[in-house]
Amino acid sequence: MKPETIAIHTQAQRTQYKESAVPVYLTSGFVFDDTEDMRTAFTEEQQRNIYSRFSNPNTSELAEKVALLEGAESGLALSTGMAAVFSTFAALLESGDHIVACRSVFGSTHTVFSNILPRWNIHTSYFSADTPELAEQLITPATKILYLETPTNPACDILDIAYFAQLAEAHGILLVVDNCFATPILQQPITHGAHLVIHSATKYIDGQGRSLGGLVAGRADLIRKIYVFARNTGPSLSPFNAWLLSKSIETLPLRMQKHSENAEQLASWLEQQEQVEQVNYPFLDSHPSFEIARKQMSSGGGMLSFEIKGGIECGSKFINSLQLCLRSANLGDARSIVTHPASSTHSKLSAAEKAEVGITDGLIRFSVGLEHIDDIVNDISHALQRAQA
Ligand SMILES: *Cc1c(COP(=O)(O)O)cnc(C)c1O
Repeated sequence: MKPETIAIHTQAQRTQYKESAVPVYLTSGFVFDDTEDMRTAFTEEQQRNIYSRFSNPNTSELAEKVALLEGAESGLALSTGMAAVFSTFAALLESGDHIVACRSVFGSTHTVFSNILPRWNIHTSYFSADTPELAEQLITPATKILYLETPTNPACDILDIAYFAQLAEAHGILLVVDNCFATPILQQPITHGAHLVIHSATKYIDGQGRSLGGLVAGRADLIRKIYVFARNTGPSLSPFNAWLLSKSIETLPLRMQKHSENAEQLASWLEQQEQVEQVNYPFLDSHPSFEIARKQMSSGGGMLSFEIKGGIECGSKFINSLQLCLRSANLGDARSIVTHPASSTHSKLSAAEKAEVGITDGLIRFSVGLEHIDDIVNDISHALQRAQA
């Protein structure tokens, strides 16, 4: 089946009431007929729900849907994107193991690499998105995981998934890709050779800024290890949030198409504005890696960034002048959202660290929403004028 159909028809079993939409199984536990019934459940001779920290029809439906969309053998739904990130490392790594990662990763993921995993003697070496060929030199006999996001946040750099998959294969290590920005609708890292894909479902999968959620999909043996870790340590997703996220996926293909259309139009328009220095969007011909983007993505997605002339002062005047687009840290919402990384998400980074991940004082990150493009452009146009006044 095609993604549009999978997104709608992957459902938990109907109950005796034969409802059209799957109900919310808002229950902490499940009941057993007798001790034998319980024994076969606990020994896993029978696949069934025991307790919602382990599994629940709603969380299983969401995980299965995303696994199918990603072309993965198996999937797991967790409470947040960071629960998915941390559970993956905690389940698959041991003291002394090493990670090679692109420096342009989500802020909290960076904190996990730099401040949390080192406490268990797991260390990370970073390469820059603009020098991917330097990644191989960082691989040591202790390296177990190669980790990246593409497109990157907020610079919209593109990393060649097939290149990194071949590198991982050659060194017998795992390639893990955070596919949050593209979603499985625009990019399927597993079909390019990645072993695991991670999502913050909080972003496009929810798509309406309501619920946190996380997902991991990939090789069944790896997902099994992450499942065992998670089922015993507790980063479980609530059945209600799983139900919400699974319903959201029914419209994900349509939404991603519209996010991409709006973002592509906005990127082209921004390129022509004299107040704008540079526009970063994977599907612009001016993007340094647009050929790789076109090879691995079916459209450019809803995220773009641009450099406003006049540095930090104009950047902040621009943001403060917006009337339609929201000032918020979230992304992937139906509403357009704008951030100024230098003064918000990345404000804790030193000047050198900011430079290394491509964040300048005038960089604006845009999560292009589903409003009419004319209204988005109008809002930005007015704010650009006010910023330069
Ligand atoms: C938001 C985000 C995360 C973390 O997800 P949460 O659901 O907020 O925990 C991880 N990776 C990327 C790329 C993100 O944008």
